[in-house]
Amino acid sequence: MKLIFLGPPGAGKGTIAQRVTDDLGVVQISTGDLLRAAVAEGSDLGKEAKGYMDSGELVPDTLVIDLLKARILKDDCANGFILDGFPRTIPQAEALNQAGVPIEKVINFVVADELIIHRLSGRRIHKATGKIYNVNPDGVPQPPADMDPSELLQRDDDQAEAIANRLVVYADQTEPLIGYYKATGLLVDIEASQQIDLIIADVKQAVGA
Ligand code: AMP
Repeated sequence: MKLIFLGPPGAGKGTIAQRVTDDLGVVQISTGDLLRAAVAEGSDLGKEAKGYMDSGELVPDTLVIDLLKARILKDDCANGFILDGFPRTIPQAEALNQAGVPIEKVINFVVADELIIHRLSGRRIHKATGKIYNVNPDGVPQPPADMDPSELLQRDDDQAEAIANRLVVYADQTEPLIGYYKATGLLVDIEASQQIDLIIADVKQAVGA
């Protein structure tokens, strides 16, 4: 099963992907995670990507397309994958097409900007595992009570200024993909402001799991 999770930053794509991969028997591929790993390693790709990422801009298509194509060739992708955060532009979607990757469904996470800003401000990443938590009083999932807060990292691009820019970038460059995939008949809208278990149920129903 090969799926695309589409939607604005903070819609819950990564959190939901982490929660459904086991049940669906697929892996999560987050180009954001791959790029952050490249930055942490200090590779040439990481050095080139960092400035774009910190300001909330998109990393150039050619870099991300090569990265994604290499990743989906790995053995663990044999049973399928969820693309979380790719494609983010029409040229990226076309590259996926040209690579002959058969996508079964595109799940479009629909959520209002105010909720996105609230969610992203509370988002934290567990340094050791990459697991996503939310420290807002109403945030889910909450970090375990015994977790030392110093183990949790706030992403540079989850600061207010970068969030605002990421929403503009999303509207300009990524939102056109909704029409693109609607035209293919693959798009399913999911209401992403619901409680997390309801979102997961909707996603599973949409993919027939
Ligand atoms: P994410 O973790 O998906 O929010 O991605 C974090 C950042 O990585 C984005 O704001 C972009 O700078 C970059 N990025 C991730 N995926 C892509 C992509 N498909 N195309 C271009 N840039 C990307």
